[in-house]
Amino acid sequence: MPLPKAELHLHIEGTLEPELAFELAARNGVRLPYADTEELRKAYLFDDLQSFLDLYYSLMAVLRTEDDFEALAEAYLVRAAAQGVRHAEIFFDPQAHTARGVPIGTVVEGLGRALDRSRERHGVSTALILCFLRDQSAESALETLDAARPHLDRIVGIGLDSAEVGHPPAKFREVYAVADSLGLRKVAHAGEEGPPSYITEALDVLGVERVDHGLRALEDPALVARLVRDRIPLTLCPLSNVRLRAVSELSAHPLRRMMDAGLLCTVNSDDPAYFGGYVGDNFDAVGEALGLSVEDLRVLARNSFLAAFLEGEEGVREGYLAEVAAYEFPTPPLP
Ligand SMILES: [Zn+2]
Repeated sequence: MPLPKAELHLHIEGTLEPELAFELAARNGVRLPYADTEELRKAYLFDDLQSFLDLYYSLMAVLRTEDDFEALAEAYLVRAAAQGVRHAEIFFDPQAHTARGVPIGTVVEGLGRALDRSRERHGVSTALILCFLRDQSAESALETLDAARPHLDRIVGIGLDSAEVGHPPAKFREVYAVADSLGLRKVAHAGEEGPPSYITEALDVLGVERVDHGLRALEDPALVARLVRDRIPLTLCPLSNVRLRAVSELSAHPLRRMMDAGLLCTVNSDDPAYFGGYVGDNFDAVGEALGLSVEDLRVLARNSFLAAFLEGEEGVREGYLAEVAAYEFPTPPLP
């Protein structure tokens, strides 16, 4: 049995495996510019952000109907459950779909079908976080939030993703204020490739409760002190950082230093189909590369539940924390 954990930084569109992409393409009569899953899997071996984003957005063409989004979420939940995920807060990018003529209701209701039965079928509680594409306009974000209003019973919060540099958090001040008035929780990607000042701005201007990535916080000691003091969780994604060249190799990842600095770190998979592993794979890989002890891994799992938006249901967080505390790591085989 794997270590129980929550996943808090996961883009559902980034879980589209080549096999499902081909299945949905056939179902919807979409022609993919790849001969087969093998050739598509090779395309997943991109080596920079732009080639990743090009592939990521072009493959979304296969997602058309509620059934497609349901299949996407179901496939993720199966894999996540197998890697010990007990709670998942799932990002989705409505603008990437509405721009293709797929209404937001199709996306939310399709994902929702799989999420509704997830606890029973997979033992995974779930929440949906609507993300705005930060390289699009503030007006587009406001329109997107407006279009989401009939579906807010399914959405716990909002986030901000896609290309960071040149799109500082303050651009989205207004939509975060509106979301706040609607009682939505607030997170944002910041400090992945953007400067530490973007993290500060996300806290001060957007009022985010959690920072996605936050990798570059270490460059600003005053910011680190503030994040530690205020117990602001960071959702780190080690394999993603290597694939997108935010760090040169896993052994150079700052996770260990961030934990030592007292930051509330969590480990997540970001876009697992594209970045070489789901959340359990991220735990294994970074644990090995940085020489983390089993108790370090337990701290990361505990942090994931402390950082989760589980306020709504009495005792759920405590239950998960008890599972983490009681977890017995498998004894390694004798050499
Ligand atoms: Zn992300």
